[in-house]
Amino acid sequence: MQIQRRSFIRGVVSLAGASLLSGISGINGSRAEAADRRKLTGWADRSGVLTDLNVCIGCRRCEKACNEENSLPVPDHPFDDLSVLERHRRTNAGAYTVVNRYYLPDWLATPMYRKVQCNHCEEPACASACPVGAIKKSPEGAVIYNEDVCIGCRYCMTACPFYIPAFDWFNARTPAIKKCDMCYSRITRGRLPACVEACPVEALVFGKRKQLIELARDRIADEPHRYSDHIYGEYEAGGTGWLYISGAPFRQLDFPEDLGDKPLPELTKEFLSAVPGVLVIWPALLGGFYMFTRNRNCSQSGPAAGQNGNEVSNASHSK
Ligand code: SF4
Ligand code: SF4
Ligand code: SF4
Repeated sequence: MQIQRRSFIRGVVSLAGASLLSGISGINGSRAEAADRRKLTGWADRSGVLTDLNVCIGCRRCEKACNEENSLPVPDHPFDDLSVLERHRRTNAGAYTVVNRYYLPDWLATPMYRKVQCNHCEEPACASACPVGAIKKSPEGAVIYNEDVCIGCRYCMTACPFYIPAFDWFNARTPAIKKCDMCYSRITRGRLPACVEACPVEALVFGKRKQLIELARDRIADEPHRYSDHIYGEYEAGGTGWLYISGAPFRQLDFPEDLGDKPLPELTKEFLSAVPGVLVIWPALLGGFYMFTRNRNCSQSGPAAGQNGNEVSNASHSK
């Protein structure tokens, strides 16, 4: 109980502090921090991953590798059970990447597969929405999360246009945001992301974003009859580190096509800077109280019920 009470107080105090700052200089913390975040595209050598959907065979080895690399819970369906591909799943706290299968009118003979994970936006809306800077775009290109700084407000979940950040309900005492971090600890040691390394057909290519775009352009130019003339993520939402090419139209694979080319933080910053601190403080207080009471209830009655449902029947809600 002591720990829970301390966590609650720490959360409220942290967010109250952040909110006071935001009252002065906008919701995103100090002016210096805000300016720093606007330099997100300044890292010329940032990396990304190109996913070639014409190559992916839907084997789920990337899912398995991600699960093992991140020590995630054993899934309900083993990774060699491909029946789950039929459902259009979303990522969640227990699965940082999922692969979904699509039978499309013009591609009846060969289903298409779409791998889903954090897209590592060039100017991430999740980072912009976070009032305490718990999410950042790293120079390497990965959008990374610091659990020690996070206050659990979950604004990042609301801000992400791809519905990626997930709240970890598995650990009732210390819930946290969970998502793909581009295997940051691996790439900073010169290794490939685990999913990229595991892909048996090289549907995933890791590299510098600039070079990936050139590679994608070359593939499209070499086989224009097999690819749409579109690199998804080159411009969408201001650009993403995770890029896609495909023969099938992206909208038929549930890619959002209404995001525009502007970074989402650009579109929201005027609104955010006008949000009075009180609108941040009160949700934080209520959220902190909710966390406090939920943790107390959990400690009395066992783990919270699993809320990691990642299946959406409505395709428009799966990225
Ligand atoms: S896809 Fe969502 S979670 Fe990932 S960087 Fe972009 S806004 Fe953030
Ligand atoms: S880059 Fe790493 S964390 Fe992200 S989906 Fe691949 S294996 Fe998972
Ligand atoms: S490992 Fe490669 S081929 Fe298999 S599902 Fe993942 S991206 Fe597709």
